[in-house]
Amino acid sequence: MSRFLSSEFKGLEPYVPGEQPKTSGLIKLNTNENPYGPSPKVLEAIHQEQVSKLMLYPDPECGELIEAISEYYGIERDQVMVGNGSDEILAFCFMAFQNEKRKIWFPEPSYGFYKVYGDVFHAERNLVPLTEDLRVDPKKYKNLDGTIIIANPNAPTGIALNLQEIEDILKSNESNLVIIDEAYIDFGAKSCVPFLQKYDNLLVVQTFSKSRSLAGSRVGFAMGSREVIADLNAIKFSFNPYNLNRLSILAAAAAMRDDDYFQKTRQSIIRTRERFSQELKAIGFHVLPSSANFVFAESDRLSGQEYFTGLREKNILVRHFEKDPVSNFVRITIGRDEDMDLLLTATKELLERTAK
Ligand SMILES: *Cc1c(COP(=O)(O)O)cnc(C)c1O
Repeated sequence: MSRFLSSEFKGLEPYVPGEQPKTSGLIKLNTNENPYGPSPKVLEAIHQEQVSKLMLYPDPECGELIEAISEYYGIERDQVMVGNGSDEILAFCFMAFQNEKRKIWFPEPSYGFYKVYGDVFHAERNLVPLTEDLRVDPKKYKNLDGTIIIANPNAPTGIALNLQEIEDILKSNESNLVIIDEAYIDFGAKSCVPFLQKYDNLLVVQTFSKSRSLAGSRVGFAMGSREVIADLNAIKFSFNPYNLNRLSILAAAAAMRDDDYFQKTRQSIIRTRERFSQELKAIGFHVLPSSANFVFAESDRLSGQEYFTGLREKNILVRHFEKDPVSNFVRITIGRDEDMDLLLTATKELLERTAK
């Protein structure tokens, strides 16, 4: 720490991203990336002619991408805004809507950035524990007095709320903004985007990082009422008007328009997840019911830490969170079928080792 750091940040605990290994040869199932590459349409969109235009600033309105998203969801263009990853969108939300006097409520555990942004932007954080079986308890989000943010499906559990549960939260919080982070929505749960017709207190946040294979491009988006989107744009234009680069705008627009590839790859991940979950259960694991591109699993024969370390020694990278109540679990990203088979084989070997 330098002596120049602003005093309010002295105790800041930054977000810790999953490891991005420098060596090849690892099976990387730790950061919920898509095992399938971007759509071939993305590769066509970023050709040399586009690269040769990189001396020009990008379109600050990101018009082409906004249009692709609004067409896909059948909403107006002024109900959509885009960010440098949905992380940036979430940061804009904290900047626009939170301060010391306004509370923000979210589940714990959930996506780690909610806490970090709460600290960075001086929000009054209120962490709502999950139920004993690690579900978001919708009853605890009725009639609150501040912003609500819920990842649906939740991270790192993968468990989703249904639309009725979300609608009840929206209805009982008319004077609060309710942010639903749908980073994993395309892997099985139902999006609450249709509620935008009825509820102006809803903001839906999604990302191109998971279901659209563009984590490296850093593109996220938000959908909400015209007024809320205008607020977020006011922040964006006061902070970083060119928040998406030229190539990312083109890549994301092409990915959004290639529905065939999107459907094919997401279905494949869902199929692999269901098979893999069954096989993990068959060897005695407790596997939470996932609607995401990962599973959260524990065994009573191997602690979360031991399982994580054992896999790491076999060159398989998964994610382990040290905090309770989830310290006995590991989070395993769904990769290709062959990756999951290698992980299953490694898991069986680790279990045999403990049996001796
Ligand atoms: C991955 C993730 C995000 C962030 O994604 P970006 O890559 O920044 O778009 C946001 N919320 C949740 C719950 C996530 O898992």
